[in-house]
Amino acid sequence: MSIPKPFALMFLTLAVACQGGGDKTKEAPPAPKADESPAPATTPSSKPQVADTPSGPSPVGEPGRASDTPNPLKNVYFGEQHLHSQNSPDAYAMGTRNTPDDAYNFAKGKAIKKNTSGEMVQKKTPYDWAALTDHAEYIGVLPQLTDPNSDLSKKLKNYDIVQMIQSGDEKKGDEAFAQIAVGLTTNNPDPNFNRPDIIKSVWERQKEVANKHYEPGKFTTFIAFEWTSIPVNQNLHRNVFFRDDKGPDLPFSAFNSDRPEDLWTYLETQRGAGHETFAIPHNANLSNGLMFAPRDSEGQPIDARYAKRRANNEVATEIIQCKGQSDTHPALSPNDEFAGFEKQYKHLIGTNPPVLGRVNYSYVREALINGVGYQEYLGVNPFKLGIVAGADAHTGFSDNEEFNYTGVHGNVDSTVQKRMSGAGQTAGEAAINFGTPGATAVWAEENTREAIFDAIKRRETYGTSGPLIRLRFFGSWNYSSDLTDDEQFVKNAYAGGVPMGGDLAKMPAKAKAPTFAVWALKDPASGNLDRVQIIKGWYQNGYPQEKVYDVALSDGRVPDPKTGKVPPVGNTVDLKNASYTNSIGDSQLATVWSDPDFDPAQHAVYYVRVLEIPTPRWSTYDAKAMGIDPPEGVAASIQERAWSSPIWYTPDPKLVKKAPFYPQLHQVFN
Ligand SMILES: [Zn+2]
Ligand SMILES: [Zn+2]
Repeated sequence: MSIPKPFALMFLTLAVACQGGGDKTKEAPPAPKADESPAPATTPSSKPQVADTPSGPSPVGEPGRASDTPNPLKNVYFGEQHLHSQNSPDAYAMGTRNTPDDAYNFAKGKAIKKNTSGEMVQKKTPYDWAALTDHAEYIGVLPQLTDPNSDLSKKLKNYDIVQMIQSGDEKKGDEAFAQIAVGLTTNNPDPNFNRPDIIKSVWERQKEVANKHYEPGKFTTFIAFEWTSIPVNQNLHRNVFFRDDKGPDLPFSAFNSDRPEDLWTYLETQRGAGHETFAIPHNANLSNGLMFAPRDSEGQPIDARYAKRRANNEVATEIIQCKGQSDTHPALSPNDEFAGFEKQYKHLIGTNPPVLGRVNYSYVREALINGVGYQEYLGVNPFKLGIVAGADAHTGFSDNEEFNYTGVHGNVDSTVQKRMSGAGQTAGEAAINFGTPGATAVWAEENTREAIFDAIKRRETYGTSGPLIRLRFFGSWNYSSDLTDDEQFVKNAYAGGVPMGGDLAKMPAKAKAPTFAVWALKDPASGNLDRVQIIKGWYQNGYPQEKVYDVALSDGRVPDPKTGKVPPVGNTVDLKNASYTNSIGDSQLATVWSDPDFDPAQHAVYYVRVLEIPTPRWSTYDAKAMGIDPPEGVAASIQERAWSSPIWYTPDPKLVKKAPFYPQLHQVFN
């Protein structure tokens, strides 16, 4: 849970920032270049295929898209799966007063008033769906304590913390919030506030608002909450989602238990009661090696039962959000030249003085690779994870648009000046080190709760650092090399293989290596594409291995024949004007790739990473607004990106030679 320090920042004035809903990019997306290949595929039907895309007209279209009836070839729906309103106690303590209604309205594309700055904020491109995930701990309690007429205030009118909050003295109010916050970080709830009757009434309202904003076919919401387990500042947070419109009677909080196994028991119980549900962890990067540790909460090595329960209950993981990316770390992936993206946020949440977290077992790529190791070693993969991304904004809205960023932590970073000054901190980290929210894309038959929930559950989903990049990824044993040029590309890809999130079918006798079809299309409101990469992880003699392959390159580039290195795409960012041009890169990239290093005896996992050309980081837009140089210490331009869910290969057991020892999987530290 994010706790602002110091609370004194809350008195900062409500200056209006210079960033309305306007698009600061100088460059409108160009029409596709004539020489770009492959040509875009078209839908089987002859009607215009892009007019109904949620992001407005795209430059070349989306193969397979259809809108009038459920589409078996799936449409992409962009949305938010991690967001906090004033009903999260830390958000409220940061000064956020934007409500669940505001959160859904903003996601739908409506302009809302940001209470901490007074400015109107609006997305350039609306989302198709959103889940509000307020912290289950003290959910909705603080707004009631501030309101002297609320039932809770009346019941607790003689309690000193409540009197401090209602005294009208800002300092006393901040002190009271700080005292409440201590209970959160130490997992020691105040029984006056942690009351089932209060939680139930707020939770019922939370569900009502989610249902009110659900417009099947147009905009989807979910009943959801965050379970905020953070034992000794080690982040184990999970968001919990429900498929139905009733949801559970009560959310499960870290006050109930901070052990993931107990959360799974809650999920299994809910399923038994007819509420289909799953959990999605986030900020593995801040877990100090606990999120994907080779042991359970009791310190025992992972066994097959644990692995099965985990895979059943946790179907995806966040790869990026405002507190950094969890794909990988340069220390884990020294040969990955793009591993250092948005890694400024380093410290374990709530540590003072700040403590750096352990890198091992804190990243998704390593977990995916260890997952196939477990598949070989135990016969079950505990980390069979799809990929999503999120905001984790504590403002009531998800501003995933880099050029349109207005801060994520209430009063701490609500204006350009505050974000750039470094004075305010959240959880021990300066505002400049936070990134913009990520976005989640799902491939679903239609925009409904059931279809989107099921898509995430089968891992047909991907995450981006914010832009709405479109990305298809399929695996097979026999795709033709020109598959992505075919008008029936998507139909044939489904017919002959599996989409992202799937398992390759049994290897046919004549096959040599799996083939993968990838198609990516730029966000019309963001930069062109630099390249498409396939990241492969596998286990060899008991040790994890990884390799990054560049499979599609823009601008006709080819790798250096000697080094295999790809020349950089270039950088058109004008730092002074915080602008760029789409004169480099391609608007669309597609290819069919076959693994040149395939060994049928090795368990393997493959996922896609798409990189954009460099565009300005939010802090560069803010610097321009202030008329100063971009700040040092953070990148002035960044390569935004998308990460697909993986496709897995599991060998025929007859081919597998188990290693005598799996050091990464046996290791039990402490
Ligand atoms: Zn969290
Ligand atoms: Zn959160």
